[in-house]
Amino acid sequence: TRTLLTGGSGFIASHILDTLLKRGHSVVTTVRSQEKAEQIKTSYPAVSKENLDFVIVPDVSAPDAFDQAVVSDPPFEAVIHTASPFHFRIRDVKKELIDPAIDGTVGILKAVKNNAPSVKRVVITSSGAAVMDFSQSKTYTYTEADWNNMTWDEAVSNPLNAYRASKAFSEKAAWDFMEKEKPRFSLTSMNPPMVYGPIIHHIKELDGLNTSNERIRDIAFGKAKAGCPFTGVFVWVDVRDLALAHVLAIEKPEAAGQRFLVSPGQYTNKDIAEVIQEGFPELRNGLPTGDALKGGDFPPGGWYNWNTTKSKEVLGMTYRSFKECIVDTVNSLKPFVK
Ligand code: NDP
Repeated sequence: TRTLLTGGSGFIASHILDTLLKRGHSVVTTVRSQEKAEQIKTSYPAVSKENLDFVIVPDVSAPDAFDQAVVSDPPFEAVIHTASPFHFRIRDVKKELIDPAIDGTVGILKAVKNNAPSVKRVVITSSGAAVMDFSQSKTYTYTEADWNNMTWDEAVSNPLNAYRASKAFSEKAAWDFMEKEKPRFSLTSMNPPMVYGPIIHHIKELDGLNTSNERIRDIAFGKAKAGCPFTGVFVWVDVRDLALAHVLAIEKPEAAGQRFLVSPGQYTNKDIAEVIQEGFPELRNGLPTGDALKGGDFPPGGWYNWNTTKSKEVLGMTYRSFKECIVDTVNSLKPFVK
């Protein structure tokens, strides 16, 4: 399937790109600069331009950002939209987090409708942040029927809320678009929780690591020795499984029109420390132990669970173990330690 992937330089998108190519799809990916395109090319020296090509889209929130990117010869049949800000190095939460998320999502749907009539499937990387509203009791199990109904005032009150809202608002805007515009393509949303896993995208140093893996970095390499950070979102998925879920969503017609919670289950930061303790004797001195682990455990009363039956039944997902994920993540980060 000829596929347009947005944000190919990102943590998750680089694995989606890898999975698409391994499963025989041909890909054009958007990146923000020629330099990023060149970096990705070095990972695939044997792949032809017909199977991997690039379009520069410097800012997804620019009006008409995707109007040309969705046009290709041969024409696209599928689009996977991942590009959206997920970091907290910001001053203006509206301009830097919320607007790009919404404008990018609506922008690509509009561009596909107007300029790419051959596209049959669009998959967007939404988030568990668009599902969980934290108003439920701690024993509640979330499903695809749930929505984070955050208000605008709550959204702009701090950067973490703004990120969560950016995902809820943009996914809602996408489903609203489908209802109002009735385009010829179908929409599928992927709703992952904390995504961990080995990095295959290009970073210069560990300071520039993607946001979710910062947690593994901080526990593995000494920053959390005096106190394990609060886990926050106690549900996780391996980036390689999430990438496969995106690709299965363009391959399987049954995925059309669906949201998918993708996760094998719960974890805590304490579990991260314990896997590293067992697997990496050379890192033991920098790990939190004993009382320092307490902050990384489940809070009293437990924490919400997720029902991911739909991902298994419709997409056929099976999930990697937490141990495999953490070990592979740490191994991928070690070369960057100075
Ligand atoms: P990354 O930061 O690695 O990837 C984000 C990608 O989006 C990068 O390619 C980035 O480009 C691009 N991007 C951000 N803002 C813009 C913009 N204004 N214009 C153009 N491109 C932009 O993070 P992830 O891979 O983790 O995130 C990918 C998607 O997954 C996001 O939609 C995120 O919300 C979602 N997600 C992530 C989770 C996680 O735990 N990691 C959990 C749930 C959802 P560049 O690097 O060049 O700035």
